[in-house]
Amino acid sequence: MSRALIIGAGGVSNVVCHKCAQNSEVFEEFMIASRTKSKCDEIKDRIESGIYAGRSKITTAQVDANNVPELVALINEYKPDIVINVALPYQDLTIMDACLETKTDYVDTANYEPEDTAKFEYKWQWDYRERFEKAGITALLGSGFDPGVTSVFAAYAQKHHFDEIQTIDILDCNGGDHGYPFATNFNPEINIREVTANGSYWEDGKWIETEPMEIKREYTFDQVGKKDMYLLHHEEIESLALNIKGIKRIRFFMTFGESYLTHLKVLENVGMTSIKPIDFEGKQIVPLQFLKAVLPDPGSLGSRTKGKTNIGNIFTGIKDGKEKTYYIYNVCDHEACYKEVGSQAVSYTTGVPAMIGAAMVLTGQWKKPGVYNIEEFNPDPFMEALNVYGLPWQEDFNPTLVD
Ligand code: NDP
Repeated sequence: MSRALIIGAGGVSNVVCHKCAQNSEVFEEFMIASRTKSKCDEIKDRIESGIYAGRSKITTAQVDANNVPELVALINEYKPDIVINVALPYQDLTIMDACLETKTDYVDTANYEPEDTAKFEYKWQWDYRERFEKAGITALLGSGFDPGVTSVFAAYAQKHHFDEIQTIDILDCNGGDHGYPFATNFNPEINIREVTANGSYWEDGKWIETEPMEIKREYTFDQVGKKDMYLLHHEEIESLALNIKGIKRIRFFMTFGESYLTHLKVLENVGMTSIKPIDFEGKQIVPLQFLKAVLPDPGSLGSRTKGKTNIGNIFTGIKDGKEKTYYIYNVCDHEACYKEVGSQAVSYTTGVPAMIGAAMVLTGQWKKPGVYNIEEFNPDPFMEALNVYGLPWQEDFNPTLVD
């Protein structure tokens, strides 16, 4: 029925491509295009020798997603109905520009971040609202897990469980063990920029900033167990603060083990996490990019990661005049993901919702000209699709709250 162009060929792209092939009724054809074509070919070969072989017509191409004319030429040649951006957040705006020029719908999983400033916020992408509306095309922002599923969980809670949501705590727990003393589960550069930045949360209409890792809590996660978790700034807080009316507080916590934090501290102390270029033997290098080159490729962790992720939201609020608490979450098993698509659960939990978001737009259920965050659409068909495509969710009506 439709044709998609998937940009990027990393861990998340591998999952998106497998899931598009699984949902071949919608994704009859798709192209995988990235900086390194051989990585696109590897994904294609993996699909064509796996359980979703022979369903969608798959092609591959090389493209520099920083280059708008190159993107426009590729889009004009392939003529996709939608572009799924699973390259890096630095490419969001160039890909959106190319979609505008070719009048093609757009989906991504992470908000724009300038490469030379570790600061991510939606303002740059929200600036495209009028232009997308005028062009009659849809941009769906943040269709991964967090942001993505966690934002849809909020829309679902708002629609079905509360008259007023007062607080949201988003808890992202990775109970997986890859056996390395230090490695990141997705792009190391993006991951380390996120966790070394100041933390922040939304309370009473304003941001409260914290030092990195200043706020720590312990929580016992279903099917994972007790973990330390730390408050981080996270992009979905910004849009949920606008879209969940009357919200008083939104916080985001992520679990980290002691070994990860100790390594990170040392790397930070010696300057390896810096994004400021330095002169090395006559060449300018960015220490964090060099660090990325020596760390294990997140894509290679899949075969050695055991354990589960548990990601979800705890809500407090009012229903029918009474106080109510509600927890909705997904538990995902690293080894089961690897067996199905050859990626670990962090890539899997991002790639499945990216495919579902694109399918929502392609099937017309979420087709609306403009630029939207995912919680602005009807959550029900997306929630149903999560159960079908490998991310079933569970509910707890009496959860332990985070203090
Ligand atoms: P990877 O680093 O594994 O993959 C990124 C891919 O993008 C690579 O194939 C890379 O090419 C390609 N790429 C980078 N720059 C360019 C360029 N200029 N032109 C074309 N292709 C380019 O990252 P992940 O797969 O782990 O993550 C993908 C995205 O998903 C990121 O934006 C990340 O922030 C987001 N994410 C979102 C989550 C969520 O829950 N919302 C969670 C996890 C990730 P090459 O192979 O040549 O380097």
